[in-house]
Amino acid sequence: MINIPKGTKDVLPGDSYQWQYVEGIAREVAKLYNLKEIRTPVFEHTELFLRGVGDTTDIVTKEMYTFRDKGDRSITLKPEGTAGAARSYIENGLAGGAQPVKMYYIIPAFRYERPQAGRLREFHQFGVEVFGAKGADADAEVISLADSLLRRLGIRVKLHINSIGCPQCRAAYNKALKEYFAPHLEELCPDCRARYEKNPLRLLDCKEESCKKINRDAPVILDYLCPECREHFEALKGYLDLAGIGYEIDPRIVRGLDYYTRTVFEFVSEDIGAQGTVCGGGRYDGLIEEIGGAPTPAVGFAAGIERLLMVMEAAGTKPPAPKGPKVYLAGLDAECRKKAFALAETLRNAGISAETDHMERSVKAQFKFADKIGAEYVAVIGGNELLSGVMNVKCLADSSSEPVPFAQAIEYFSEK
Ligand code: ATP
Ligand code: MG
Repeated sequence: MINIPKGTKDVLPGDSYQWQYVEGIAREVAKLYNLKEIRTPVFEHTELFLRGVGDTTDIVTKEMYTFRDKGDRSITLKPEGTAGAARSYIENGLAGGAQPVKMYYIIPAFRYERPQAGRLREFHQFGVEVFGAKGADADAEVISLADSLLRRLGIRVKLHINSIGCPQCRAAYNKALKEYFAPHLEELCPDCRARYEKNPLRLLDCKEESCKKINRDAPVILDYLCPECREHFEALKGYLDLAGIGYEIDPRIVRGLDYYTRTVFEFVSEDIGAQGTVCGGGRYDGLIEEIGGAPTPAVGFAAGIERLLMVMEAAGTKPPAPKGPKVYLAGLDAECRKKAFALAETLRNAGISAETDHMERSVKAQFKFADKIGAEYVAVIGGNELLSGVMNVKCLADSSSEPVPFAQAIEYFSEK
């Protein structure tokens, strides 16, 4: 027996409607905000993520699925969607077209993490990117899109926002952070000791309790913002007010990716504890240049679809299972099954979902099966029906039945 790889999950035929539901709403909301879908490869050159995601991030230091292909290239399964979208924006010259370019994607993402509730090695993301707009109105619009999605899914969340400034203000802040953490170095986890040297901002993102405790009194980035970054943050708050979106300022959010500048935000569920961040994003004005394009402002977010479903489960807002086929055509014997087969084809061609028996079951067993798959109507075709050309159609919901000539089946079910 060959098992599924650790940390991955099958989406079974009986469950996939839940993914389709979330994806369908995501596509609808994306359309309302005038976003178009981009599809990029599942794998990219490893270099893209080293530069695009940042080599001090958890993703790059610990979580990437990297391998050499037969041409001895280093390839990585994408751990997130932004880097690929940004690469495509540059490579396809989208910067030369009308700006801004607004896009979304629904992708599998791969991260070698310790599997637990809400943490998988293959998961799915709905992501949004807006390239080319530098104003805080774009940040607010992207946040509003996420808010709109979450509301439609019936998910109650708190929006946390912060600004992590630009490389200029961050230099002063990093210095202050290092001064603050220097006397605590011994108490920090080994990861944080490495972060201290390479990227002190990351210290604030640590999930270890002992580090969190020290983080509590660390200097706050908002006190170090340069005038331009401060203005951007104030403008963002203004636009969120205009959109009627409530928020909380959380100076401790730094986000997991290195390419963020200025705005960062997270939507945190109030219905689940540990893995409560369902959606995270921000502005990443440095990314496009970092991976070889012209300096281009950009803002976006990504939401984990499995995590959305987990929260919907807790909130009781999961979609109901879809109905079964409109009609099940039962056949008494081989000849009647042929008629059922042909009639099912006729109905399907007319856009009416239909099912028949493939297992040579008795009529009684076919009825049971029809009920099990949630068929709305059942018709039994026997010798009499073949002769008369009329079948008896039973509605399973109220057990009422009506005679329906084969020739009028399309009409009859179209109206149901
Ligand atoms: P976390 O702090 O939970 O590790 P992150 O900062 O790594 O999150 P992002 O890179 O911003 O997360 O990814 C965006 C969203 O993708 C997250 O908010 C979450 O919903 C989802 N996500 C991230 N990692 C996983 C995972 N391993 N399994 C399932 N969903 C995930
Ligand atoms: Mg993570």
